[in-house]
Amino acid sequence: MAATSFKIPEFENTGVDVIPAIASNTRSIFRTNKTKNVQWRLTQLRKLYWAVEDYRAQLLAALKKDLNKAEYESLLTEVDWVKTDCMFMIQNLETFVKDEKLKAPTVPGHFSLMKFRVRREPLGTALIIGPYNYPVQLTLSPLIGAIAAGCTAVVKPSELTPNCAMVLKEIIQKRLDSNAYSVVNGGILEVQALLNEKWDKIFFTGSSQVGTVIAKKAAETLTPVTLELGGRNPAFITKNANLKVAAKRLLWGKTLNAGQVCLSQNYVLIDKDLVPQFIEHLKEAYKESFPNGAKASPDFSRIVNLRHFHRLKKMLDETKGKIVMGGELDESELFIEPTAVLVNSMDDSMMVEESFGPIFSIYPVHSLDQALNIANSVHRTPLALYSFGSKKENERVINEMTSGGVTLNDSYFHGSVNAVPFGGVGDSGMGVAHGKYAFDTFSHARTIADTPNWADGLLKARYMPYDFKNLRV
Ligand code: NAD
Repeated sequence: MAATSFKIPEFENTGVDVIPAIASNTRSIFRTNKTKNVQWRLTQLRKLYWAVEDYRAQLLAALKKDLNKAEYESLLTEVDWVKTDCMFMIQNLETFVKDEKLKAPTVPGHFSLMKFRVRREPLGTALIIGPYNYPVQLTLSPLIGAIAAGCTAVVKPSELTPNCAMVLKEIIQKRLDSNAYSVVNGGILEVQALLNEKWDKIFFTGSSQVGTVIAKKAAETLTPVTLELGGRNPAFITKNANLKVAAKRLLWGKTLNAGQVCLSQNYVLIDKDLVPQFIEHLKEAYKESFPNGAKASPDFSRIVNLRHFHRLKKMLDETKGKIVMGGELDESELFIEPTAVLVNSMDDSMMVEESFGPIFSIYPVHSLDQALNIANSVHRTPLALYSFGSKKENERVINEMTSGGVTLNDSYFHGSVNAVPFGGVGDSGMGVAHGKYAFDTFSHARTIADTPNWADGLLKARYMPYDFKNLRV
């Protein structure tokens, strides 16, 4: 298909008045059963794949405008990521939708005369609400799961990335079946109006605060939710770590998308004797990535808006810690330099909230015991956890602390491929996404049991009058 010449229009709120009609239309399309046809789903997925390819230039331009995302990063983590995800689903969907048959030995006693199978059926009509930090990936990837499962869906991209929201609207409404899939653009009012409608599934990615609002409202109608939330992610560094590699990788974790990543570390718990050397390695890694400073780098993103810029600035203004790397801010450009702050209290402004930006804290500890005590005292289950130590120490960290996922000796990677489940636990969310797990997330595992008529005599044990002679399990 030829590349499109679409120019990104000004952001436009869909408005709340039309939302009931959009929701009811999307629901009525589901009832036609057309989305249950697997070939139909595959066609929609192929259309989405090619739409993302055709709108590549617009998506890259929108990501640049909204977040100053470098083209390389936008391809790696957004545009090509979504294409790979879509292709994976296209290649595997016919396997995923096959009824799962239970083998006879799985079923006890005379139940083995029955045939059991599990069918993955679409939950129905889904609402997908996206965040601003990966506006393309985190909006389209759940949609891929919804289409694959056979759901119809309404998508609400983040209004904080308005250019991406408008391109996503064009992609979804112009290229997919526009009755089955539509986009509502807007903010809180639109989300509230959407939540007043009945959905069969809500897939929300965003902050824990808003996740709570979504979950409360969904509970009123017993709507199942997947919540992909944030949290304060710790990194552990022990004397057995490769300090240079740890510094380089953790700095990377704070420079990708200017640290506006749900997975990036918020604080580093490090053996106190390693601190001076770790800071030196951080500075070296910074120099390697940004020989002329991060501000001059074409690769470094900007903070999404003034509100988030001031939120991060406040954390830095109020810290009682010492800035040991970075520290430059420029409001006119929404620029915040990758910044590390040495702190010594869990009450420090750098420790109490998720940073969700290029700033993080370094907290010296006496031992791994102390590090685990500190991280576990946060009482908010993180989405990610990083451990840089010996095999035994890393295992200990995994065993003694809960998190959505774990990456050992690196940053991010447990969330980077769609072959494994991705999601939070406790405060960092519920439910999983990515690949087959996204398909399952939008599906209902429906058990179908089939009893042959001829087996009635053999299955007589259930009928009254009961006779203990027949009791076998
Ligand atoms: P957010 O919660 O502010 O917004 C997410 C969505 O909710 C947006 O579409 C927005 O329009 C809507 N929204 C905002 N306030 C609302 C309200 N009061 N009522 C109803 N709807 C509302 O999140 P964000 O700022 O876009 O994203 C940052 C957060 O998302 C961070 O906490 C980050 O950790 C988290 N996040 C999590 C994941 C994950 O996969 N777990 C991925 C990306 C971001």
